[in-house]
Amino acid sequence: MVTSVAGVYLSYPFCAQKCTYCNFASGVFPRELERSYVHALQAELRAHPWEWGPQTVYLGGGTPSILEIDVLRTLLELIPGAPWAEATLEAAPGTVTPERARGWVECGVNRVSLGVQSFVETEIRRTGRKHTAQTVKDEIGILQEAGIGNINIDLIAGLSGQTEASWRESLDGIERLAPPHVSVYMLEVDEDSRLGKEMLLGGVRYGAAETPGDDQTAAFYETAVDRLSSLGIPRYEISNFARPGHESLHNLKYWKLEPYAGFGADAHSFDGATRRQNPESVNAYLAGEDSETTPAHLDEERFFVGLRLAAGIHPAPEDWLRFAAPIRRFVDAGLLETENGMLRLTNRGVLLSNEVFQEFLTP
Ligand code: SF4
Repeated sequence: MVTSVAGVYLSYPFCAQKCTYCNFASGVFPRELERSYVHALQAELRAHPWEWGPQTVYLGGGTPSILEIDVLRTLLELIPGAPWAEATLEAAPGTVTPERARGWVECGVNRVSLGVQSFVETEIRRTGRKHTAQTVKDEIGILQEAGIGNINIDLIAGLSGQTEASWRESLDGIERLAPPHVSVYMLEVDEDSRLGKEMLLGGVRYGAAETPGDDQTAAFYETAVDRLSSLGIPRYEISNFARPGHESLHNLKYWKLEPYAGFGADAHSFDGATRRQNPESVNAYLAGEDSETTPAHLDEERFFVGLRLAAGIHPAPEDWLRFAAPIRRFVDAGLLETENGMLRLTNRGVLLSNEVFQEFLTP
């Protein structure tokens, strides 16, 4: 049953350039395809039986910051409930201009997530992106000037060539700009990305040989947790950090199992009981292929989705019984901890979270 706390996700899988580590169903496509995609997205939004006004909207990509403002407006006008409590647009540094920022605000956007990834130029270049630390600083100024103070900066730990010193430089960048929200992702290189292929087959173009190992990447992550916490930006989810009160309302819905409706290629929806996934590729989406619907397994998901939150979960009595064995084992191993009926990952458990989550999945 969808309620008014639901969120809406719009997928815009087009980018100005393809990052070397990325293998999302996104990329650089001909303009014609992009136009057809926007029409299909508008049709999907129009066909939706809106019986509710969403609390949050999230435009993810790809790089939706390259959408023309008029096109963005036609999409957002099809979503009821404006002004939304939170409407986020993912932006690539280098695409934020005063005109665009003003246009975003006029369309109802009140939060921007910047895919900075690193403040170190050599690392940025190797990902295929073109911005500098100065670009990020200037564009944050532009956003604030337009009235968007709710800004997230994405960083990636484990980029090619990253060292303890260069990672510190990126964290210094956060300290200087003081955004209210930061996401830190540990790089997982997809074998099919350009960087992934170079790691498997050899080569020097994308810096595969200088990509930090898993242990070093985990150490970078731990440094970030400490540093951000000392800056007043504590971790509230495995990859997300925020000043209190600036947690992403939209992303919290995923971890709290609240409903959301997704539109566009590869968009996911959840109505409280059923999960639906739209066709993954732009071509399959445009061809009108069916979306895939599967029942949600809420008793398990409450664990492996909810445990991502730093606050942890409050298992029901029957769940304590059902998962008694893995809970005991992970508490003894120092990966989970309990307090006042709550269950949560320890700092070490966060680094081994996939192993922990595995135990809460029914084979
Ligand atoms: S990482 Fe993001 S911006 Fe880069 S190619 Fe992938 S989707 Fe596009």
